[in-house]
Order: sequence, then structure tokens, then C-alpha cells
Amino acid sequence: MYSSGIAHVLFDIDNTLTRYRSHALDRILEGNFLFPLIADLAEESGIPRPEAERIISETAKKNVFWDYPDFLPPLGLSLAAALPVFRKWHAENMEVLPDAVGLVVKLTDYGMPVSVISNNPRLGCLLKLECCGLADAASGKSRFSKLLSTDLIRGCKGEKGVWKRALKELGISPDRIIAIGDNPEEDARLPMREGVVRCFLLERGVSAPLHLPPGVRRIRNAGEIANDPIFQDLFQKRNTVITEF
Ligand SMILES: [Mg+2]
Repeated sequence: MYSSGIAHVLFDIDNTLTRYRSHALDRILEGNFLFPLIADLAEESGIPRPEAERIISETAKKNVFWDYPDFLPPLGLSLAAALPVFRKWHAENMEVLPDAVGLVVKLTDYGMPVSVISNNPRLGCLLKLECCGLADAASGKSRFSKLLSTDLIRGCKGEKGVWKRALKELGISPDRIIAIGDNPEEDARLPMREGVVRCFLLERGVSAPLHLPPGVRRIRNAGEIANDPIFQDLFQKRNTVITEF
């Protein structure tokens, strides 16, 4: 019924495209899993650990909508030094969820533009998407038109006004957008309230509450979305467009 009108698909990242392996979040600083690695690098360069941790904490307070590179210059560190460490952590601690990754590949190969909306800052998004083979964290290139990350949309998508800002940033009428995620509030109720036409709620081992707005479809596997009538026209096209990044 909407098939010809859909112009964009928005993907969540955490528990949709990737998830943390067990014990991935055992070592954190200020609630963050990469901050200890930044403190390690600072310590290796000669800054005492308490001083490094104080600088990280102050930088996060000064700029609430930070991204990881913001922490490096105050500690005399470069992204070239930090990136391999960040990448190693992701390779060891992130699990890729192939059903949703496969859907991103399929949609983009058929020419459907996709973006992510995530409670991670830009480099955090890129590192997770890189694990999926969907981005390159060094160049910033990816299969996605936009990364609606916390630094860009100034907040997490569960917060008041953030979905509205994200949709404005995307610049596409919400009635032409589909959202896919695992959180009933952030990935379904809030975007539907802002006019997103259809939401697919992935139940990653957890059953969602029963009271969801019409237009939300609960699924167990992202592959089910490809069979939804909403994409019938798209996947009937004979020629695919291979997306390079
Ligand atoms: Mg999620």
C-alpha cells in the first residue's frame, strides 16, 4: 500500500545491527566503554591516570554532545593513534547481527537510501558499522546517507524533541520513512508520533508490550521485512544498483 511512496529506511544500531558481547561493558569510565582506552593511551604517553580521567570527565561535561575525537587533543593524542585501539576493542567486543546487516545490503543494492539513528556519537556509529562491513571508520564513508548520531541530533532518540530534530535533519517527509529498531519506545512509539509511516520492531529475545500503535509490526528477524508488501515494488525491480563506499 505504501510501496511506491517509501523513500528512506532508518536503522537503529544497538541490538539491531550489532550487540555487545558478554563482559564487553565490564570496564567502563563515566559509563562509557571507550573512555578507559583513551585514558590508557594518555597514561602510556606520560599523563598520570587521575589527570587523564579528570580531563576526559571535564571534556564530556563541557560538550554534552561530544564525539570521541573531541577527547584526543586535550590529552595530546591523535586519531591516528586511537583508531587502531578503538577498532581492536570493537573487533573483540561487538557481535554482528547478520539478519539486519543483510537487509541494509539488500535495500542499498536495490537503490533504497538508508540512514542510521543511534544513541552513539558519529565515530561510535562508524566503528560499530565497520564491524558489519557497512562503513569505514577512518574515511567516514558508509552505505548510509546520513548518520543521525547523538552529536548531530543533540541527544538520544528517547529524549524529548530529538526524533523531530532528526527527521528535520534527514529532510524527508516522515510519511515516506520506515524505521527499524528493537526499542518499543525509541524505535516505534516516538517515531510514529512524529509521522513515520511504518516501524518494524525487532524482538531480540524480548517480547514487546502489546499496546503498540497501528503501523508497528513486530518481527523476530530483519529478513522478514524484505517480504513485507511495503517493499514489493522495490524488490521486483530487475536490475540492482551496487552501492560502493
Ligand atoms: Mg537498539
